[in-house]
Amino acid sequence: MKDILSEAIGFHINESNLHFRAEQIRARLKNYLSMLGGQAVLLLIFDWMMWGVQEHAVLLAYNAAWVLVAAVEIVWWWRNRERVDTIQACMRWHYAFIIFTGYFALFWGATVVFMFPEDLIHQILLLMLLLGLAGASVSTNTVYPLSFYIWIVGVLVPPILKFSSMGDAEHWAIAGFITLYFVILIKSGAEVSAAFSDTLHKRFDNEALVKELRQQQVIINQTYREAEISARTDYLTGLNNRRAFYDIAKPLWSNAIRNNRDASIILMDLDLFKLVNDTYGHDLGDKVLVAVASALKGAAREGDVIARWGGEEFILLLSETSLQSATIYAERLRTLIAAIHIDFGQTPISITASFGVSQRVESCLTLDELTSSADKCLYQAKADGRNRVSAKSNNL
Ligand code: GH3
Ligand code: MG
Ligand code: MG
Repeated sequence: MKDILSEAIGFHINESNLHFRAEQIRARLKNYLSMLGGQAVLLLIFDWMMWGVQEHAVLLAYNAAWVLVAAVEIVWWWRNRERVDTIQACMRWHYAFIIFTGYFALFWGATVVFMFPEDLIHQILLLMLLLGLAGASVSTNTVYPLSFYIWIVGVLVPPILKFSSMGDAEHWAIAGFITLYFVILIKSGAEVSAAFSDTLHKRFDNEALVKELRQQQVIINQTYREAEISARTDYLTGLNNRRAFYDIAKPLWSNAIRNNRDASIILMDLDLFKLVNDTYGHDLGDKVLVAVASALKGAAREGDVIARWGGEEFILLLSETSLQSATIYAERLRTLIAAIHIDFGQTPISITASFGVSQRVESCLTLDELTSSADKCLYQAKADGRNRVSAKSNNL
């Protein structure tokens, strides 16, 4: 209760509570028109009650004072009802609530000052109306505590003072009852207000939690994707590694078997690469591997699966490609690689590669069989003197 009072009085709107304040204002705005409508109905009842005991000119002037400010408030509400997102907009609403709520609260409270009826029955009728007005604000104003307190003070304190100033025991007793009612309203208003703010905070906590979980999920997915990619990629050349090669090649291979389509494998091994390492150093050897990989990537056709098979060995699976086309392709790669020159001081270094090419035949059922057949060809190319292509379709 103390917290609620200090919250209501020190009603700061800043960056950190903006979201919360904006929600409070929105909740208050939801019953804005119904509150004004309720007051309008009570004003009519008030007129009807007072018509016989008050001067009509005073009553009409009083009505005019209500209608005029209500009209201004409606125009203000209509023009600003969507604007509750910035600190400035919330501050404007804050002042508007203080001004309009204060005005109407005092408007009703002042009825006992300016139009206090002579007879007790009318006094009590007027009082009932004010008690009703004050009570109604528990359900409407408490979402925005400050306006609630302004309202019940404005509506109830004048009748307390008025009744207690009459001097007789009867009016003293009524003033006591109003005070009691006032205290009860403050207490229940504080509870409703606390429950609302609690619900709002819980909602924000949930929203924040969901947001954080979503962000974490994004990070996890990204990390997973990165790990997945790095587990399938050769760290030096950026080509597929052996595992990725199998993953990509397997469905293509199954398709070739099922539909009896052409498929060929090219296995490529750099010639005398150990010598390159030994002569120019391992770092330069790495550079050569990167340059070769990049040449292979550059020459690749759509659908070719290229991978680093091992140290200085590379593999290509060519779908829908006959032995003849694969051999021409391998020959092109051989020329391409022989043309690579790596800078090493004054003398650019060049390299050659040997190729084994093999085509799928009906008796060849697995990718490994075809690879092993290409490997035999590669061995043959090496034996024949390196820097050449050796091909065979029935090499199993
Ligand atoms: P051949 O023509 O018969 O294939 O001779 P070679 O020297 O290429 O064959 P060998 O298998 O004896 O040597 C392969 C060399 O490749 C040995 C190894 O140091 C080197 N190598 C393997 N992986 C890497 C690598 O990642 N970086 C470097 N710089 N060298 C590597
Ligand atoms: Mg080798
Ligand atoms: Mg080699």
